[in-house]
Amino acid sequence: MSEQIGNLTFGIIKPDAVRAGKTGAIIQRITDGGFRIRAMKLIRMTREEAEGFYAVHRERPFFAGLVEFMSSAPCVVLALERDGAVKAWRDLMGATDPAKADAGTIRKEFAASIGENAVHGSDSEENARIEIAYFFSQLELVNSE
Ligand code: ATP
Ligand code: MG
Repeated sequence: MSEQIGNLTFGIIKPDAVRAGKTGAIIQRITDGGFRIRAMKLIRMTREEAEGFYAVHRERPFFAGLVEFMSSAPCVVLALERDGAVKAWRDLMGATDPAKADAGTIRKEFAASIGENAVHGSDSEENARIEIAYFFSQLELVNSE
């Protein structure tokens, strides 16, 4: 069994991007970006699962809409490995608001609005560990070498 080479981060291809048929294109961007996919699955979050995932935002005005959106259709959850994975994945995603995202980022290319913005990425290594454990068991983290 191989050792973990880089750091881990957690990503979601959100319902808007899956519904628009962009899953394949986004996975291509991820692998082109030097990430190793350690785990990946298509899920449909319940309202309760989406509320739990975004609990840090529960006081924010957009919380109800965010939970509704994230549980509205299937999404793809991913555990990604790379050197500096958390920052590298957020750089590849681009700014939360696609209107402010840099050219070449996933949100610039695939997202329509700040609410429906194609992808999620962990904001720290600690949250990456928590978020991976929320969706994946230890057995689902695959070693490829
Ligand atoms: P994510 O956590 O999904 O990777 P982020 O870290 O760039 O995105 P956060 O501030 O953590 O942004 O917000 C979480 C999610 O909540 C955003 O991705 C977006 O879907 C939604 N959101 C954030 N701000 C707004 C807003 N002003 N209006 C509507 N939805 C918002
Ligand atoms: Mg966030």
